[in-house]
Amino acid sequence: MLAAFARATGGPDPLANLVVGEQPVPEPQPGWATVRVRAASLNHHDLWTLRGVSSRPVVPPQILGCDAAGTVAAYVGSAPPGAPEVGARVVVHSPVTCGQCAACRGGDEMSCRRPAMLSEPPLPGTFAEYVAVPADNLIPLPVGVDFSVAACLPTAYLTAYHGLFQRARLQPGMTVLVHGAGGGLPSAAILLGVRAGLTVYATSRDESKRQFALDLGATAAYPPERETAREVITATGGMGVDAVIETVGEPTWELSLRAVRPGGTVVVSGATGGINPPAQLNRIFFRNVTVAGSTMGTRGELRRLIDLCARGALNPVIGSRHALADATSAFAEMEHGEVRGKIVLES
Ligand SMILES: [Zn+2]
Repeated sequence: MLAAFARATGGPDPLANLVVGEQPVPEPQPGWATVRVRAASLNHHDLWTLRGVSSRPVVPPQILGCDAAGTVAAYVGSAPPGAPEVGARVVVHSPVTCGQCAACRGGDEMSCRRPAMLSEPPLPGTFAEYVAVPADNLIPLPVGVDFSVAACLPTAYLTAYHGLFQRARLQPGMTVLVHGAGGGLPSAAILLGVRAGLTVYATSRDESKRQFALDLGATAAYPPERETAREVITATGGMGVDAVIETVGEPTWELSLRAVRPGGTVVVSGATGGINPPAQLNRIFFRNVTVAGSTMGTRGELRRLIDLCARGALNPVIGSRHALADATSAFAEMEHGEVRGKIVLES
């Protein structure tokens, strides 16, 4: 089958580690399904893997990609009880949890002691014609939601949703600041926030991306400069925002800590601009700020996102679509940061 995989990691030109070529079709194991992938979307996680940054040591060839939509191709034997039938349209929930630790047994799968996601060893990723996943990770996809739209949901939209409403516990009427307005996860946070009745402020270095944020419904968009904190505080009646969705890291961390209100939450869901800003712990403890990490979300939250799309209440922004065979250009677009919204691979 065709797949996009890392033949090596790290080095001066990470994109040179990417190969689009033949890989064996994965063999399902009992309780798992093989899915014919029809669409998958790129995430910064895939670029980090090529750069040699991953939570587990990568053993090439490693197929990349952590979210997918497609159809069930096969099980070993018959479908497990409750699982979608062969041929059914599905979205794949990416976190593969152990099912045995105290968190898993207590129903808190997101706190699993040994979590992995698709594309992290030993699991192949979704940038392929087929991927094997636990049957429990399959979520039915209604006919009205197309595969490319669905492929945006399991990482970027799910992480944004979990960050806004579970980690920061935002309610209608509250305020949020979203950095890096052009990217997949930030554009998801802006759309989901506006839809839920939040007042959304955004930042981007690029004026056209600030305009993009306004087009998505943000109330105001600023360059990510030190003085922006003062403007955000003024815009929120002198308080600061209830929450910040931080995915940039080093370039925006100080702004996040200055712009959040006392007692507010900075949700960290990425660090595309660097992972080690000065922590400024004084701004955290003295102002009772919560720093909350957030990656992906629960199956239930993913079902709610699919339902929003099916009802026409959410239309994920797709910035570009490529055939799987053209994955190299898709990765180049992501690295250059020019695309607005999600980059989708179709196969
Ligand atoms: Zn577990």
